[in-house]
Amino acid sequence: MQKEYVFYDTVGIDFPLDEAIELVKSPCNGDFLVSNNPDAEAIIYAPEINFYLQQSRDTIAQKINNVTKLYAIRGLGFDFAQDMDYSQEVGNKVLIVTDDESLEALKAELRDEDFTVMLLSPSAILDVNGHIGALHVTLKKEDELLELECDQILWWNAPIFAMKQSGVYDPALLGLEGALKKLRDNKGEYHYKNYINYDPSICQYHERRVEVCGKCAEVCPTVAILKEDETKHLAFSHIDCHGCGGCISVCPSGALDYTQMPRIAFSHLSDYFKGSTALIIPHKMDLSLIDIPLREGVLPLMIEGEKYLHEAHLLNLLQTSGNPIIFYTDFISKGTGDVIRILNEIFEKKYHKKAIYVCEDSADLARIFEGLESFPECMYGINEDGLRKREIFSARLSHLVDGEDLGVVKTGEHVHYGDIKINESNCTLCLSCVGACNVRALTAHPEDNSLRFNASICTNCGYCEVTCPEKDCLTVIKDEISLKPSWFSQRVMAKDELFTCLECGMPFATVKAVEKIAAIMTPLFGNDEVKLRTLYCCAACKPKVMFKAHMENENKGLSL
Ligand code: SF4
Ligand code: SF4
Repeated sequence: MQKEYVFYDTVGIDFPLDEAIELVKSPCNGDFLVSNNPDAEAIIYAPEINFYLQQSRDTIAQKINNVTKLYAIRGLGFDFAQDMDYSQEVGNKVLIVTDDESLEALKAELRDEDFTVMLLSPSAILDVNGHIGALHVTLKKEDELLELECDQILWWNAPIFAMKQSGVYDPALLGLEGALKKLRDNKGEYHYKNYINYDPSICQYHERRVEVCGKCAEVCPTVAILKEDETKHLAFSHIDCHGCGGCISVCPSGALDYTQMPRIAFSHLSDYFKGSTALIIPHKMDLSLIDIPLREGVLPLMIEGEKYLHEAHLLNLLQTSGNPIIFYTDFISKGTGDVIRILNEIFEKKYHKKAIYVCEDSADLARIFEGLESFPECMYGINEDGLRKREIFSARLSHLVDGEDLGVVKTGEHVHYGDIKINESNCTLCLSCVGACNVRALTAHPEDNSLRFNASICTNCGYCEVTCPEKDCLTVIKDEISLKPSWFSQRVMAKDELFTCLECGMPFATVKAVEKIAAIMTPLFGNDEVKLRTLYCCAACKPKVMFKAHMENENKGLSL
């Protein structure tokens, strides 16, 4: 049977590899899925395999086992990936934006390569729209506004609005050669993927009357997520998406998921880290710069979108591995940064140990290795299949809290948790808030006419507060996780008896709701006893009462 994994041995390893891995001694291009070396042409090149073998202090037996895991982790990512491939035609029109006239030579060089080149001063450009292969530039010439179309743009020190568009490259950031390589590689056809999966049914922006969320669009560094304010629909432009995952880490509801490593795939992946310390390294980091030995039990985990990890991912990895996590990265996103602080505070309160370390060079990493302490007592597994982000985090955190009262942890600017308060004397149990809550944090319970709330799955969006028709009734408490059992369970927020219809005896509304409507309508109905009686009747009996009274009056009139 064709093996999926290939190990191209350039160093002469002196121990056997698992039988799932084909050992080759020269470059090859078999139909392999994962390789340790780009010359063993597989679909996925996993540089962390050689890195681990060269740097790890694990025993030979551990290495044999762990190398197999590293292949399997990559294979799992491939099997679960939900991305699709797309392409966009890219013509040869390039706009160079600069005031540097010495770039005439570059213009000539590009023309020789069959590019059509235009030069513009940055001061002439007002706006850039569209995407790679179809960019629209608005410019000012004297008092006139003009539109110019091009496929790609080379812009030295480009402003933020321009850098948000796909197809705009800044040689001041990429180096001239790097930027030119982009132009050349993209010419003809540009290939891209969808990195984001979106579930509007739990989105806190989608079709709401007022805007209570939009975090994803706020943190997106490009124009890949746009809010259509009129309809309250999110528009995703996959061609503009870099796949960084920043939106996923801040999405409170879990409406966004990463197609390269969906939540459920990550849950399976973390099983490979049982008993190991995960050293998370974004792909963009240069492994050759980590020149210290890896402490025994440390296993690299290379991730694509360096920003997509959120609290449910990281708590899963901590509780499955029983060890801290180390992030080796030069950048932590706003969402992931908030989550790291929150989890560290929680682990300090519970285990008096740090959960997640962040470093960006070997010296820092060596220091972290010296102080690493595991916490096997935190290990916990759940089946995450079918669960949403908040439900996963709630189940895991509740187990960690384990009946204690560990106080409160403040959440942050980008990660929101909280609670609500209901003034029961003002609540008529109209259940508008239940209809407003799309994550089932607020629920109606007909068995005892109660309104219940589970704080741990509430996204703190505040839409229930906006929707509640009563005054001084529902208040959202912002930005804190209460580490005690009641925060994780359904609490009764308001409860009432049912009022029975004066005519048919069927219960039809809560006592408070009937009393409230009666209090408003009684002065309007004056002494009209029939109308007053209808206030205490169900919808079916109201017209009957009115009709009966009408007929009686008619009959009286006739008999007179
Ligand atoms: S962050 Fe999530 S819940 Fe909020 S608008 Fe974006 S997709 Fe919707
Ligand atoms: S309970 Fe209120 S604040 Fe919490 S998610 Fe539901 S609507 Fe939003």
